[in-house]
Amino acid sequence: MGTEIRVHQVYAGRVLQGSGALSLVPDEVGRLGAQRVLVIAAPSSAEAALDLAAALAERYAATFGRPVQHSPVEVTAEALALAGEVRADALVAIGGGSAIGLSKALAGRTGMPQVAVPTTYAGSEATPVLGETEGGAKTTRRDPALAPSTIVYDPDLTLSLPRGLTLTSALNALAHAVEALWDTRASAATRAYAVESADGILAALPVVLDHPSDIVARGRLQEAAWLAGACLAQAQMGLHHQLAHALGGTFGLPHAELHALLLAHVMRFNLVAAPDAAARLARLANGDPTLAVASLASMHDGPTTLRALGVARDALREVAERVAADPYPNPRPVTADAVEELLLAAW
Ligand code: NAD
Repeated sequence: MGTEIRVHQVYAGRVLQGSGALSLVPDEVGRLGAQRVLVIAAPSSAEAALDLAAALAERYAATFGRPVQHSPVEVTAEALALAGEVRADALVAIGGGSAIGLSKALAGRTGMPQVAVPTTYAGSEATPVLGETEGGAKTTRRDPALAPSTIVYDPDLTLSLPRGLTLTSALNALAHAVEALWDTRASAATRAYAVESADGILAALPVVLDHPSDIVARGRLQEAAWLAGACLAQAQMGLHHQLAHALGGTFGLPHAELHALLLAHVMRFNLVAAPDAAARLARLANGDPTLAVASLASMHDGPTTLRALGVARDALREVAERVAADPYPNPRPVTADAVEELLLAAW
């Protein structure tokens, strides 16, 4: 470590974790002093949202059940109108990154406190970052006021995750940890989170894929995803996230699948220039970490290439040039030719 000053900021002040933790949401809402809760629920969480509404009793105000990926501002406006109608004073988001993104978008506009109950491994609940879309253009902002103050991780809610989303979402989380490991400016706490996170994902994901209802392994995976989300909040993301943003934004691709198929390619490119990260990951993977991740990614029963996601081969050069023109901090220098080669390998 050099002499540079590093800042480590912690976001969610309370994190609850464990099977059945959903039942504690009403107490958590009470701690925030809230009287009228707007529940933001992914369609997949409709049933859990009904249970939650019943448990919130007189503190329940309404449910908004149609969050959309990348928080389009029109959807936010609709939910904001509902929040105003029911005089909501707090938000509980239950679902993946899309439900949590909508909650952040509302919190950013109203100052309402948030409890996040994640059901995927994307990690948004642990970050102060919000990506929104308006007229097809995506903007991202970062503000501590956007971060949920409480996170409730209940692995029971991940039992319904289909195999494909379990795999791709866990690799999305692993990408946060891997990028934190090769960020030379990451704090000691972030490095520790990243190691524990990558260890948890590499150990628990194969178990969960073989035994999807193993609640202990599901819990470990979720715990690892929390730490990965914290890495995303703390560390500088590099080429992997830049490619995911550039490709996802340009072609409207599914978030988790895109991350999952890119990760091994970016690791192959970057790890030669990040010996510490390479050594740590090799210890955790008990061998070549790039091969371990490629092998996990190949187990997906959906698209595993950019081509299968519908990206045209001749669109890759333009993406490569855009990325190389303004690269995110990355352990290995990023050139248009190198990025094009990487994208062709992922194609
Ligand atoms: P998602 O929230 O869009 O969910 C994908 C699909 O899975 C949805 O149909 C949802 O209903 C379903 N689903 C979610 N949980 C389920 C469960 N337990 N069982 C069955 N189905 C379930 O997907 P995501 O990958 O969690 O989130 C992606 C979004 O989050 C993107 O918009 C991305 O930009 C954002 N994101 C933001 C950050 C951040 O820090 N700002 C971090 C990660 C992701």
